[in-house]
Amino acid sequence: MKIKRYKKVHKHLNFYINNFGFRQPYQILLDGTFCFAALNNKVNIADNVPRYLQGELKLLTTQCAIIEMENLGTKLGGALIILKKFPIHKCGHEGQPVVASECLLSMLGDTNLNHYVIATQDRDLQNNVRHKVGVPLLYLHGKTPVLEQPSEVTVEATRSRAEGLSVSERQKIEKLKLESGLVEAKGKKVKRKKKGPNPLSCKKKKKNKSGEVDKVVKNTEEKKKRKKIRIAQHVKEILFNKDNQV
Ligand SMILES: [Zn+2]
Repeated sequence: MKIKRYKKVHKHLNFYINNFGFRQPYQILLDGTFCFAALNNKVNIADNVPRYLQGELKLLTTQCAIIEMENLGTKLGGALIILKKFPIHKCGHEGQPVVASECLLSMLGDTNLNHYVIATQDRDLQNNVRHKVGVPLLYLHGKTPVLEQPSEVTVEATRSRAEGLSVSERQKIEKLKLESGLVEAKGKKVKRKKKGPNPLSCKKKKKNKSGEVDKVVKNTEEKKKRKKIRIAQHVKEILFNKDNQV
């Protein structure tokens, strides 16, 4: 594995270790879609995933995930054989199986207290996992396992916790900051004022033969000064009358 990839997965795992108390052996909950992708890409899950995560793992599945694969027919027989190799974790649906995605989500609960990692190729389940706090997501990108970076919801929750705030409190504060103009909205380009060159880094203006600063500059400066002078109406009248009298 390339060093860069190793560093990345190490960084993401450390995030979960430091913020959510993940410990080895990591518990990986697999579903049929992950096994199906592994089979298609000739990936040996039991070899490749522990090597990728550089740690001890428990690769687990649930009865619901197996039953779902069984119901999907003989086309997925190969993936079912792989899935059945892994130990079955109790899911609470014994006797009343639910679809695999629902089953795995229910095992996470609100806070993923048992520190599961979800391994799936199911897009809907992936999206649902991203909306939960503190759940690492593992999937195959071709032959390569990928531990996704912590989701926005997860990072946000970690920040809020560090500040002693709930997520909703933090969101309110962010909203107020935006409304009051303290911060710029994300993605909005900040307009920069046009600035002249840094006077300290500029050469001094060259004087011409007569020893005067360039006339153009001088003229514009005078114009600016002139503009600033405002004469009140009653003064103008007096001045006008005076002129006429003379
Ligand atoms: Zn279940």
